[in-house]
Amino acid sequence: MQKETLMPTYMKNFSCIGSACEDSCCVGWRVTLDKKTFKNYKNLKHPVLGKKLNDSMKRIKNGTSSDSQYAYFVMDDHKRCPMLEESGLCGIQATIGEEMLSATCTTYPRVINKVDTNYEMSAKLSCPEISRLALLNPEGIEFEHTEYDMNSAWGMNNDFLDSSKSENGENLFWPLRMFTIGIIQNRSLELSDRMIFLGIFINKVQSLIDSKEYNKIATVIAEYKSKINNKEYIASLMNIKSSPELQLRLVVELIQKRNVSGGEVPRYLESYIDMCKGFNIQEKETFDLEKLKITYKENYSNYYKRFNEDYGYILENYLVNYIFESLFPNIKKSDIFNHFTRMSVLYSMLRIHLVGVAGYHNGLSEEIAIKVIQSFARVVEHNMFYLNSITDSLQQSGMDTLAHIVSLLKE
Ligand code: SF4
Repeated sequence: MQKETLMPTYMKNFSCIGSACEDSCCVGWRVTLDKKTFKNYKNLKHPVLGKKLNDSMKRIKNGTSSDSQYAYFVMDDHKRCPMLEESGLCGIQATIGEEMLSATCTTYPRVINKVDTNYEMSAKLSCPEISRLALLNPEGIEFEHTEYDMNSAWGMNNDFLDSSKSENGENLFWPLRMFTIGIIQNRSLELSDRMIFLGIFINKVQSLIDSKEYNKIATVIAEYKSKINNKEYIASLMNIKSSPELQLRLVVELIQKRNVSGGEVPRYLESYIDMCKGFNIQEKETFDLEKLKITYKENYSNYYKRFNEDYGYILENYLVNYIFESLFPNIKKSDIFNHFTRMSVLYSMLRIHLVGVAGYHNGLSEEIAIKVIQSFARVVEHNMFYLNSITDSLQQSGMDTLAHIVSLLKE
């Protein structure tokens, strides 16, 4: 059905590359099934597929079960979906048709949101094809409203009816969202300084939300629009000191928590091992932070800096995609600074991976960067447990304040 849809222009060029995909979405993670699909598969009378489906499905029986998360496929010994054929094609799609796929399989990698009456569609960077289309555009991500043929089987990620209205009835979601994306795409600043500027702005807006002074938010947006063009204010951001200690603590956290971070996904594991080699560290060794600091700085100035100068748009596009698909900043949720902290941690973790991998490869190409970012998105962005454990440890040690996040972000 044709729907007026807001989407990044890269979506128009997406189609699944199937068996040519270097990291099939049918390998390495749990494929969930909605209730309707589960029942369809249970009742399927197909000589081969019927039994195979029945043997492979398992009901979710704990508190997380719902109509959309009703059952799942048990992966085979190689962590592959049991329906995946040797050819790399999906056995269900090939045998009984695409319309029999579950909502999860049909929708992925698309992210569909509805803001008030409008549909929005973007996609997860954990799909390598999406990563290439979204990240490798030097001009930056652009958006367009278009009539799009929305598949009615696609699952909705978020439905925010009236989400854009604050308590005083003013529409604040759009001005906040547009200004946020504008900050991240403002190339007169270093990307880390754009993130710092955004953090200061979001912190200010959060304080107005906390005190229910919604009527002041529009004025603050206008104030910060002027600040971003104020040379003295911007120069003061340049003088902020980075905190290599805090950034390296994150490296250590990453390594210590790796076992729950998706070591099962071979493509991520390869990048992870490259990062460790780039930092000259063994996973199980006791960390010598001083040594790590020296290696980090060497990798940064010898290899990462050059990558950042040549391909800075890649991480900018990563952040813009994240902001759009996660509906940031949604003031209805009242925790926009927490959401910003999470985005900052993702960005910082990604930069650490890239600095380490750059050290191992003596530089970074587009291809290597895409592999790191796509596989990182797959195991970290999709693993709330892991991401929460990183942000929780920042919180527990009081490192989740604006001052700490700023020094984590600073190059
Ligand atoms: S990850 Fe993307 S390109 Fe690869 S098989 Fe899945 S949808 Fe297709």
